[in-house]
Amino acid sequence: MKWLLIQLLTSCEECVDVCPVEVFEMEDGKSVPVNAEECMGCESCVEVCEENAIVIEED
Ligand code: SF4
Repeated sequence: MKWLLIQLLTSCEECVDVCPVEVFEMEDGKSVPVNAEECMGCESCVEVCEENAIVIEED
């Protein structure tokens, strides 16, 4: 199953810390989904994001 990850870049590092498969990395002070294909749809990043910047949808 594939997941579509939509992220509006933020400077918060919560998603970087919480993702179990290291989808996000910080680049130039913003979190970036560099390994989006590894996403398993757990929505942990959605739950910790205070800016509601991440949306996970089934592809
Ligand atoms: S849904 Fe889970 S696996 Fe996918 S990016 Fe967020 S924390 Fe990582």
